[in-house]
Amino acid sequence: MTATLHVAPVVLTMLDEPLRDGAVLVEQDLVVDVGTSADLFARHGDVRVREWPGVMTPGLVNAHAHLEYGPPFADLAAGNLPFAQWIAELTARRNGMTDIDWQVSARGSAHRLLTSGTTAVADIVTRGPAIVVAGSVGLQGISYAELAGVDVKGWPVALERLEVLLGTTGRERGVSPHTLYTLSSQVFKQMVTLARARGMRLHPHLAETADEAEWVLSGTGAFAEFVERFGFEFELHGNGVGMSAVRHCDELGGLGPDVHVAHGVHVDADDRALLRERRTVVALCTRSNAALQAGEAPVADYLSEGNPIAIGTDSLASVPDLDLLAEARATRDLARRQGFEHPERALVRALTLGGAQALGHDLGTLRPGGRADLAVFDVPVEGDAHEALLEHGPGHCVATVLGGRLVHRR
Ligand SMILES: [Zn+2]
Repeated sequence: MTATLHVAPVVLTMLDEPLRDGAVLVEQDLVVDVGTSADLFARHGDVRVREWPGVMTPGLVNAHAHLEYGPPFADLAAGNLPFAQWIAELTARRNGMTDIDWQVSARGSAHRLLTSGTTAVADIVTRGPAIVVAGSVGLQGISYAELAGVDVKGWPVALERLEVLLGTTGRERGVSPHTLYTLSSQVFKQMVTLARARGMRLHPHLAETADEAEWVLSGTGAFAEFVERFGFEFELHGNGVGMSAVRHCDELGGLGPDVHVAHGVHVDADDRALLRERRTVVALCTRSNAALQAGEAPVADYLSEGNPIAIGTDSLASVPDLDLLAEARATRDLARRQGFEHPERALVRALTLGGAQALGHDLGTLRPGGRADLAVFDVPVEGDAHEALLEHGPGHCVATVLGGRLVHRR
């Protein structure tokens, strides 16, 4: 099989400074050489050449998505509903869906990932079809089987549902205890224990809203009403535990290097220090937080304090597209408003290596011996490539290579 030499004016390997007039040689599903195009042409004779404009990067890693909430849920993103209402509407909408509907929905999301340069995803799943779809198109990453709305009484039946998801093959599986307000603390803990016993990674939503903070602190507020409406028996109801969501999650065993959390909006300096200590990556979802009026994550603090971060889009139920560079641009704008002037380099790192760390996978770089997952964005190449990617990259992915195969080209 002939090798393919992908050539671009700038290549970001994420291991070194941007490579001018760079090239990446791909054979089957692996990168076999990286360097300047002159060097690679000299070293390798019989290759097929693809010349691209702009900046080449490793395939982007979306650290938090729900592929199953695809195009059929898109009207919810534009609905301007406050969080508690949005989640009630989302829950109601789920009921009429068949397996085929879920498959079509997930396929719509997967297509949007691949056409915007994303090759790996931390995908939250509550239905099997999403696992099958992500696996069949070859998306890297993990499908995290999620449970929500489960108290101790409901655990035996919910566990059966979880086992069905965890037994669905085609892609690596992890475990997602949804949140501290949709699960009994005991159930949350059981899910953590189960994941660890099986060597699976964990990915809960954490510290997303002020309502969640109030619920954990005192067991009151919008989520107390939510819990009463559905008749769940949760330990925190009416009492809380008098601490932050991050600290309580840690008490339940829910932080660690095998965990990454979504959102991390309502966190103080102590919470951030604890997340660092536990080596837990936070997947930031800036646009989803804005749409659901959840608040703004302290991006500037995360960056200046050195917290490990990644970036996720969340789902089409709360954002207009699944373009990870658009998400990163919104996160850049937020960091700047918070006084962090040049977050570009750190954010491109979050899109690649940060996502890889979140998943515990060897992804997010272009190096000999690594998987041939890469993306090309038609952006200006004169100045700093990181700045150009965030400013001009959204909507401008011209090629995506997944495991050596060209899966998107424009
Ligand atoms: Zn989510």
